[in-house]
Amino acid sequence: MRGSRPRGAGRRRPPGGCGGDTLRTPASLAGCYSAPRRAPLWTCLLLCAALRTLLASPSNEVNLLDSRTVMGDLGWIAFPKNGWEEIGEVDENYAPIHTYQVCKVMEQNQNNWLLTSWISNEGASRIFIELKFTLRDCNSLPGGLGTCKETFNMYYFESDDENGRNIKENQYIKIDTIAADESFTELDLGDRVMKLNTEVRDVGPLSKKGFYLAFQDVGACIALVSVRVYYKKCPSVIRHLAVFPDTITGADSSQLLEVSGSCVNHSVTDEPPKMHCSAEGEWLVPIGKCMCKEGYEEKNGTCQAPSPVTNVKKGKIAKNSISLSWQEPDRPNGIILEYEIKYFEKDQETSYTIIKSKETTITAEGLKPASVYVFQIRARTAAGYGVFSRRFEFETIPVFAASSDQSQIPIIAVSVTVGVILLAVVIGFLLSGRRCGYSKAKQDPEEEKMHFHNGHIKLPGVRTYIDPHTYEDPNQAVHEFAKEIEASCITIERVIGAGEFGEVCSGRLKLPGKRELPVAIKTLKVGYTEKQRRDFLGEASIMGQFDHPNIIHLEGVVTKSKPVMIVTEYMENGSLDTFLKKNDGQFTVIQLVGMLRGIAAGMKYLSDMGYVHRDLAARNILINSNLVCKVSDFGLSRVLEDDPEAAYTTRGGKIPIRWTAPEAIAFRKFTSASDVWSYGIVMWEVVSYGERPYWEMTNQDVIKAVEEGYRLPSPMDCPAALYQLMLDCWQKDRNSRPKFDEIVNMLDKLIRNPSSLKTLVNASSRVSNLLAEHGPLGSGAYRSVGEWLEAIKMGRYTEIFMENGYSSMDAVAQVTLE
Ligand code: AMP
Repeated sequence: MRGSRPRGAGRRRPPGGCGGDTLRTPASLAGCYSAPRRAPLWTCLLLCAALRTLLASPSNEVNLLDSRTVMGDLGWIAFPKNGWEEIGEVDENYAPIHTYQVCKVMEQNQNNWLLTSWISNEGASRIFIELKFTLRDCNSLPGGLGTCKETFNMYYFESDDENGRNIKENQYIKIDTIAADESFTELDLGDRVMKLNTEVRDVGPLSKKGFYLAFQDVGACIALVSVRVYYKKCPSVIRHLAVFPDTITGADSSQLLEVSGSCVNHSVTDEPPKMHCSAEGEWLVPIGKCMCKEGYEEKNGTCQAPSPVTNVKKGKIAKNSISLSWQEPDRPNGIILEYEIKYFEKDQETSYTIIKSKETTITAEGLKPASVYVFQIRARTAAGYGVFSRRFEFETIPVFAASSDQSQIPIIAVSVTVGVILLAVVIGFLLSGRRCGYSKAKQDPEEEKMHFHNGHIKLPGVRTYIDPHTYEDPNQAVHEFAKEIEASCITIERVIGAGEFGEVCSGRLKLPGKRELPVAIKTLKVGYTEKQRRDFLGEASIMGQFDHPNIIHLEGVVTKSKPVMIVTEYMENGSLDTFLKKNDGQFTVIQLVGMLRGIAAGMKYLSDMGYVHRDLAARNILINSNLVCKVSDFGLSRVLEDDPEAAYTTRGGKIPIRWTAPEAIAFRKFTSASDVWSYGIVMWEVVSYGERPYWEMTNQDVIKAVEEGYRLPSPMDCPAALYQLMLDCWQKDRNSRPKFDEIVNMLDKLIRNPSSLKTLVNASSRVSNLLAEHGPLGSGAYRSVGEWLEAIKMGRYTEIFMENGYSSMDAVAQVTLE
């Protein structure tokens, strides 16, 4: 196609003149720019200003072209010459506004093309085109009705370079026919109402380096006010101490790209953290995290060593010595192992002395009298040295001054010594009894090693769970695995729940040298028995052995004062079942699968450690503000005095029947495979937004139905792949159930390929699942429909079934939703 520059291109009208008249000039039909009598300049300026305030694109959109920001010539081509024309307006800042218009509504057979210049796609394989335009309502055009159109067409043509411009019309690929949501009439012009339409289309996958766009008019009255072409990216973020780079979204509108993060400086991880970049440019489903190395503290997404020493004070100064003291850095970020003191005579920096001290005082000796010395101090933790403090200058006293003062020295020395000793005794006393912080019960690393060997085979790199019952003294187990926290470091703010042993509160924990943390605090109510105390703290002995992003993290315990407390990380959204009920239907399938993936990863970690949870249920999962799910509730006397769902079985144990595998109910065979069964129930709870498994059936009926092969039906709108996984978890033979690592892998696959979640379990198979597929219902286990309905507590529907011809179990098995 050949083309020429449109008429008027490059012509600039000064801000004083939106000139033209109403009907014969196309522009007046199409927009404000040339409709001065009806829509004077201020209307144009308002519109322009509004447009320019919209220029800031969202941070996940990267513009490839924005006609509103191009200062010079756009270089677009119109064909034929008398079709599209550029109206060279300028805004209040004399910046050009590139508006193209056409209005051949009275003429037959219009075919007017406007071709953009070549646009590089900068590596994106899916691009978006946002058009802003006004369009005249054909009904408001006297005489134009026969030929007038209210749409135009948008096309593209891919090419690696700018040579593709002269291609023929029919080589362009159509993107869409664009219609206006709002067309305007003469009256609107009179009312100065500008009905600006915004339409966005996307194109992909693109395979070349760039493309042209083309707009085809076939007889409408249009003003194309702006064209913005952009791609979407997930902008670089730091999440869980890992840096995720700017990531261009995938070519497919439902594609999720898996992106690995890299740990920020001074942090590490076992498994590289991952996130998923959605087609909309959002980061979804964070998996894993990095953790600051020993001695570094997390702060605003980074890990830093000790902050500089700031408060340095001079002590005794003599002719040959200077004593100094200082305070711990504001942010030690770990335990300070020692200080390094560098000093030198002023202006003699090349010759300096270094002293190391574990105390916060030193005396530099062997100095010259009446000389200025420069001191700098830095702290060292396990992470290494922090930066040096600023320079502090102190001057030794002259020889004569020292000798003239000689008589006073013994008295001053004695007073100072006594004072220092007294002060030291007082500080020592305070520190030993009152200091806020951890008093680590076990200091000897050998002892720790020994305990890990105590009756447990420790494979290299694999940690094993140690049952606190194996300790003769349960208090020893608590202090083995949980740090003791001074009660004065904890501020309780409000009650958030009730545990079996006492209230659960939220609050804050401020340990010396650490950032203040929001925490949950479980308290042991007054008047407890020794067994209750042991059981209460047993949870901390278990929790303290775990370290995984999907397991609730223990901060420590308070056992040396009352009330006895367990302090854990705070999970803003509380327990998962309540949270889902409150937010029924609010999440995307991917978000739900992300939650399930987190729970499965936590359970994989527990099963690798050899820990069987026995009470896995949505009520025992906590969820934080990032929708990260963590497994919690690690009672010692499993199972399950504290779980209101737990019921006594015939064998005497207390078991949460609806969540428990048949072999665990029948003969207390609790294994990771029985946890997998419970996990299947949790999946069901999550997908059904907190519905109660088996609804109002009694525990006895649930046991009977499950034993006979009955399984929960698929929740509404459940992806078939998820329901299949649930059914796999509910295999009667526990060895046939998937392992947690297989579940994690399976969910990862689904997350990577979300289109696999699009196939839903259809309504009729939901019903037949409910009625027959997994049960013996169609195979004669019940003699009549009535007996079966009674068994599932639906006896009141017997008559309806009969009236509708479902009088035999075979007929019931054929029932569909209709
Ligand atoms: P539990 O005794 O562990 O079942 O806790 C009782 C309730 O306290 C839970 O259902 C939660 O609502 C709340 N809760 C417990 N731990 C936390 C936590 N770490 N963060 C937020 N809420 C919690």
